[in-house]
Amino acid sequence: MKISGRCVPLPAEDGTGARVRILVVEDERRLAGMLAQGLREAGHDVDIRHTGSEGLLAAATGRYDAVALDIMLPGLDGTQVCRTLRQHGNHVPVLMLTTRGEVPDRVAGLDAGADDYLAKPFSFDELLARLRALYRRSALPQPSEVRAGDLLLDPPRRRVFRGEAEIDLSAREFDILTLLMARAGECLTRYQILDEVWDGETDLRSNVIDVHIATLRAKVDKPFGRHAIETLRGVGYRLRPDGG
Ligand code: CA
Repeated sequence: MKISGRCVPLPAEDGTGARVRILVVEDERRLAGMLAQGLREAGHDVDIRHTGSEGLLAAATGRYDAVALDIMLPGLDGTQVCRTLRQHGNHVPVLMLTTRGEVPDRVAGLDAGADDYLAKPFSFDELLARLRALYRRSALPQPSEVRAGDLLLDPPRRRVFRGEAEIDLSAREFDILTLLMARAGECLTRYQILDEVWDGETDLRSNVIDVHIATLRAKVDKPFGRHAIETLRGVGYRLRPDGG
C-alpha cells in the first residue's frame, strides 16, 4: 500500500549499521544545496557550511563520518582546514573538491591530509561513490600491530612509527602502507592497490596511486634516508620486509 506520494530512502549506513553523517563545506550555495539534497535523498544526514572556518569548527566536533571539502573557500581554504584537522589528531575521511583537477591543487590537498580528491565538474554519482568508499573503509575492522624492520603500524589507533619517531599519515596513505606491510616482500600491482584501498572507485588511468606513493615515501622513507617502498617498473610496488 502506498502511504505517501514520496519515496522515503533507506538510511545510508557505514557497514556497522550506524546512520552516516556527511559535512559539506562549499561556498557556492547552489552547488552546496544540490549536493546536500542528493546526499539526503541517498539516505545520509547532511550539514552544510559555507566558509572554511565554519567548516573547521563543524568538522572538529567529530560528529561526521566523512567531509566533502571544497578547496577554494573564503577565509581559510580547504587545504588549511584539512591540515588543521590533522594537526589536531582528527582523522575524519576528507574528500577534497578541487578546481579543474589541476595537479598543484590535488597535491596540496593530499599533502594537507585529504584522503581523496574529486575535480570539478563532477557527477553526483561519482561524489557519492567516493564518499561511500571513504566512510565504509574507515569503519572496517583493523588487523592488530604490523611490523617491517623498524616500521611499526598500529591499525586500531591508526598510528605509524619509524623507530621512535611517529609519522603522521592521511587515511589513504595509512591504508596503502597497511596493505604493503601486510604483504611485505610481495609485488602489488596498481590494480591490486586500487582494488583494496579505493574499492575500485577511482580510475586506474589517473595517477592517484603514484601521487599517494610519492607522499608516503616523503614521510616514511626520505626523512630517515631509507628506501622501504620499492618501485617495480611497469609492474607496481613492493615493501621491503626489513623496512628499508
Ligand atoms: Ca569554492
